[in-house]
Amino acid sequence: MVDCIFQNAIVVTMADSLGCGVIQDGAVAVKGNCIISVGETAEILKKYSAHRYIDGRGKLLMPGLIDAHAHTGVSIFRGYAQDTENWMSSRVFPLKGALDVKARQAGSMVMLCEAIKAGTTTMVDSNEEMLFFAGNHVKIGIRAQLSHTVHALPLEKAEIEDGTLYPLDEKVEQESLENCRKLIEQYHRSNYGRITCGLCPLGLDRVSADTLRVMGELSEKQGLLMHLHLACGNREVRQMQMRYGKRSIPFLDEMGLINERLMAIHLSVATEEELQLLAKKGAAMVLCSGSEAIVDGNIPPAAEFSHYSSRLAIGSDQTSGGNTSNLFYEMKVGAVLNKCKAKNAAVFPAWRMLRLATIDGARAIGMEREIGSLERGKKADIIMLNMEEMHLIPLVWEPVSNLIPNLVYAANGSEVELSMIDGKIVMENRRILTVDESEVIRNASEQGRKLLERAGGKLLEKNPEICKQKKENKL
Ligand SMILES: [Zn+2]
Repeated sequence: MVDCIFQNAIVVTMADSLGCGVIQDGAVAVKGNCIISVGETAEILKKYSAHRYIDGRGKLLMPGLIDAHAHTGVSIFRGYAQDTENWMSSRVFPLKGALDVKARQAGSMVMLCEAIKAGTTTMVDSNEEMLFFAGNHVKIGIRAQLSHTVHALPLEKAEIEDGTLYPLDEKVEQESLENCRKLIEQYHRSNYGRITCGLCPLGLDRVSADTLRVMGELSEKQGLLMHLHLACGNREVRQMQMRYGKRSIPFLDEMGLINERLMAIHLSVATEEELQLLAKKGAAMVLCSGSEAIVDGNIPPAAEFSHYSSRLAIGSDQTSGGNTSNLFYEMKVGAVLNKCKAKNAAVFPAWRMLRLATIDGARAIGMEREIGSLERGKKADIIMLNMEEMHLIPLVWEPVSNLIPNLVYAANGSEVELSMIDGKIVMENRRILTVDESEVIRNASEQGRKLLERAGGKLLEKNPEICKQKKENKL
């Protein structure tokens, strides 16, 4: 007897070593937090009986999506950091100066709800103050890898002019390192392994070499992934050249920190040789297309990295950038931008994007034995989509199917009706069962309003064009 059988559904297993593993009339049997069997409905029903049967007629089952890089703690900035030439100093810093733990917590919960409602079941989330709202991830029931961001840059010194070396503050750095250790002690492999921890030095230009070395040792000793914004822009590279006389990636290589535990985020200004070096040493890359495009006008070199490595994942990054934690959007935007960059529509086809959001993403974050596909023995992280939506019609099977292109280019996440994470149904009929959604909305709306009350003056002072746009009714 198993706990649950999903039956009569289209099943996209992603278990195929190259493709997407589609079963037209499939079923998935779940016991505890594991998948017991996946196959044709008739075959599964012959083998198993269940406490609960979920009918999947007109629906599709697939593995939950994996967001390999996010900062849910700044979600409360949604809609305030785009359409500007300097999003970080003119928009994020004034808001960050007024950000408190309550606002971080409220914004994070909204982003987690949004992500679950759009099919995400695993989120790699790195934040300053992560220790103080990691309880969100525990409560809502998402699978998460959490990092307490470590940096040495006090906020008031973060606005330093380009061309001047950032002063690194040891006290700020030690405090964040201490909280990073506490987070690991408290949450790593907690909640039956659903919550794990990683390390996130904010950027090579924002931590000292000593702290980086300590974090490298911690990563090696405990097998923790190191999530690092790397070669993100010329400003970072200039800082590295001023401080160490080296570009970011060669510096990291000399520190001995390029290895299979490194998750290199963005890589927007990495050279071809640097990409090759990362690939050769087993590092993974995370592509955050929506965020990089909106805040910096960048299309990171994911296609180029793919020439040398298959360790690529996608991430939503931050709502102040991409404005959403929706991975269906991220799959489509990633495909579209890379096609435009390469001037070749064959680049990043639909099946590839779907793999990046599932099995290839799982491989990049070292969790392919647990998640990323629907297979016997894997964790039961399953989403069910309603396929009887206008924008997914027609669905045709022969001579070839349009299913996978429809999932990537037409679906938008609103089709996700049910989400099971670690064997527990977290969302059903589009209602999240673990938190009170109206309370989440009320709380984040209130915290957003309060934050802007505190930060509004500084924001307007630093962005005179906003006042003009407001007068002209453009905001
Ligand atoms: Zn980031």
